[in-house]
Amino acid sequence: MKCTNCSSPMSKTITRHHYKECGLRNVHLDGVALWKCYECGEDELDIHEIEMLHHIIATFLAEKTTRLKPEEIRFMRVHLGFSGSDFARAISVKPETVSRWENDPKHEMNLSNEKLLRLMILAKLGPFTDYQKLREFGKDSSKTSKRMSFKTTTSGWKSSAA
Ligand SMILES: [Zn+2]
Repeated sequence: MKCTNCSSPMSKTITRHHYKECGLRNVHLDGVALWKCYECGEDELDIHEIEMLHHIIATFLAEKTTRLKPEEIRFMRVHLGFSGSDFARAISVKPETVSRWENDPKHEMNLSNEKLLRLMILAKLGPFTDYQKLREFGKDSSKTSKRMSFKTTTSGWKSSAA
């Protein structure tokens, strides 16, 4: 790979990466290729199968028992391919409401809407009929988020024990 900045050849290292670029603060990736240019200092992260990775992250969020944080709501909405206003239309709320959910921790998304968003993520790959599990979603009112770690394998992204 050549540097986009100065065209020098770049060298590759396999590294662990704190994936803040996804908008979440608690996602760590193992086995990611980092290309670095030693001429100008430019570096480029090479993340394969990003759609699959994002789907695994979104599914983690959809199934957690604690409430969703603003940045998690945004991540899930974007993963579904919605603009803020399209998402608002889809679930019959005002666009300002979606914006508050995603930016203002004081304006909490109500749990019914949260479950609707979670179900939209889970229904992306197939039918969801585990209604017993649905009760568990967000039942813990705290907004804590566990650290999420993933590693690349030959068959794609896998959750790796933190
Ligand atoms: Zn360079």
